[in-house]
Amino acid sequence: MTLSKDGGPTDSLRAETRLVVSGRDTEAQKGFVNPPVVRGSTVLYPTAGDLHAHRGEFHYGRHGTPTTRALQDALTALEGPQCAGVGLVPSGVSAISTALLSVLKAGDHLLVCDNVYRPTRNFCDGLLARYGVETTYFDPLVGSGIAALFRPNTRAVMAEAPGSQSLEMPDVPAIAAVAHARGALVVDDNTWATPLFRRALEQGVDISIQAATKYIGGHSDIMFGTISANANAWPAVAETIRLLGVCAGPDDVFLALRGLRTLAVRLAHHQQAAIDMAQWLARRPEVARVLHPALPDDPGHAIWKRDFTGASGLFSIVLKPAPQQAVDALLDTVKLFGMGYSWGGFESLVIPFDCATYRTATTWAPGGPTLRLHIGLESVDDLKADLDRGFEAVNARR
Ligand SMILES: *Cc1c(COP(=O)(O)O)cnc(C)c1O
Repeated sequence: MTLSKDGGPTDSLRAETRLVVSGRDTEAQKGFVNPPVVRGSTVLYPTAGDLHAHRGEFHYGRHGTPTTRALQDALTALEGPQCAGVGLVPSGVSAISTALLSVLKAGDHLLVCDNVYRPTRNFCDGLLARYGVETTYFDPLVGSGIAALFRPNTRAVMAEAPGSQSLEMPDVPAIAAVAHARGALVVDDNTWATPLFRRALEQGVDISIQAATKYIGGHSDIMFGTISANANAWPAVAETIRLLGVCAGPDDVFLALRGLRTLAVRLAHHQQAAIDMAQWLARRPEVARVLHPALPDDPGHAIWKRDFTGASGLFSIVLKPAPQQAVDALLDTVKLFGMGYSWGGFESLVIPFDCATYRTATTWAPGGPTLRLHIGLESVDDLKADLDRGFEAVNARR
């Protein structure tokens, strides 16, 4: 159990408070608020008896340190009482691959949502296929209709809510109900909402992964992944982490914990600023559609309202038809929106995307060029002025 400073359980506290108080062992840290960055491989045993019995809180650097323990305790408190353990891995992709390897074996069948992060597909079609696991992709809007895709050997379902480009919102609780009735486990990528805005493990998800590179780190300065699992799935996840030998570097563990402390205030700003920008963009004549589940007319809005307590700073827009060079002119004109991969940091980003090239279960035809925006912590007035200049450049080339 995670204890707060005065030794009481943190379960009754609100998530914002849990982010601040959990994973802090003041006495062990000799009074310091934060844990030290423990760099270590060897852990010494005081006696031969201790060595033979593997006695002691820590045994070897790869298996955990006081720094990793602090982050694991804080993340466990954030995920809620369903969380039986949290694995720390070097990237979001390694969280996905490790989670899938935990639940699959040769001869198994895997169902994967068509809107997942593209490297998730690459892992399924590449390494999993080579190891004898067959993947079928499904329509993100399938809901309980996923039942028709199950085979006797379907062992797991992988979802992402919402997808980080198309922002389509699968009904994960409905999918999970079908999966569990057939003895399959549900793996979910919760990077968009984080456990602060969506407690995936309370909605039928067995293994919830985070690209902590994004909002947990929050400053675009680490690569990091986390794997949270319920009691049903955690033993297999823990064993797979141990067998694969994956572990995260101590400095990144420290930075992930530091990011976690301010997650609530950062996400509150990202949420508000992104909704403001999304509403402003919806009124622009150059924009055909805004893809953001917190907007009332979005197709995923009802599920978002039911399953999420907030929205992050990432959403997409569909432009009215325009030549590629007009879109490129916007990208080259904006200055506050950086052009680059990843998101979840303090800074705003814009990137063109096209799901049509890799989708297999559904056709992606939004009707115009698509851009994904991450709204950072800048003033929204400055961001609007920046996009205003970008749209002028589009209009000059239409
Ligand atoms: C970025 C991202 C990942 C992968 O994280 P890395 O740390 O870059 O490996 C996984 N899922 C989603 C939704 C992402 O956006």
